[in-house]
Amino acid sequence: MHRFYVNVDQIKENNITIVGQDVNHIKNVLRMKTGDEIVICDGQGKDCYCIINRVCENEIVASINSVQDTGTELPVRITLFQGLPKADKMELIIQKAVELGVYEIVPVMMSRTIVKYSDGKKEAKKLLRWQAIAESAAKQSRRGIIPKVHPLMSFKEAITYAKDMGLSMLAYEDAKGIKGTKDTLESLRACETAGIIIGPEGGFEGSEVELAKEHNISSVSLGRRILRTETAGLALLSMMMLYLEE
Ligand code: SAM
Repeated sequence: MHRFYVNVDQIKENNITIVGQDVNHIKNVLRMKTGDEIVICDGQGKDCYCIINRVCENEIVASINSVQDTGTELPVRITLFQGLPKADKMELIIQKAVELGVYEIVPVMMSRTIVKYSDGKKEAKKLLRWQAIAESAAKQSRRGIIPKVHPLMSFKEAITYAKDMGLSMLAYEDAKGIKGTKDTLESLRACETAGIIIGPEGGFEGSEVELAKEHNISSVSLGRRILRTETAGLALLSMMMLYLEE
């Protein structure tokens, strides 16, 4: 069945109003009509099984038959704090992290970040593009939510945010052994939220590792090999998925 996303404010009692680009897609590309069945996701983990009951010029109204959990969300909300990488790598990271079930993504300015946005306009444009990538990856992977991409944070701000999560980990190539990573991941299921912090191409500065340690954020190894920044978060997310997926 074809599946669409709406904001919760488009759901009123038993009816959902679809607006925007999806209207043209449903009407003119899929050629759907009154009486056809569609699934509409509320972006908050629920799928509404609906029947189209009105096709208008600029909107489509569908009535809800039944509501089900999308069943594609991980039981722990994982935040990826990604040291801002060079070029277009952030796009790949966002797309793949969303496929792997991340809850939200925070790009972080770290000491060894090379990229600098000269003005706020450029940064805002990037953020819009990253959010659009997250949206399209969420739709493709049938997520129940559209993960949010936050505006850039400083390392300090990221640590302040991460320290209050159920479990936060800093991926660090000098951390001791994969056994420690497994032990840390064992405690993941008991948490509601988790944060993972990945350094940029040049890695973390010692002071950043120290600051994380001061806030009880454990350093974890991802194995004996040095992974590229765009591989590290995805590797850790895959490991977490193995511990969490039911
Ligand atoms: N500075 C390092 C070097 O040149 O040897 C490499 C940094 S690595 C390319 C980028 C980031 O990926 C690191 O800051 C870390 O967060 C993560 N990472 C890469 N390999 C890792 C490993 N084996 N264990 C834990 N984290 C790793």
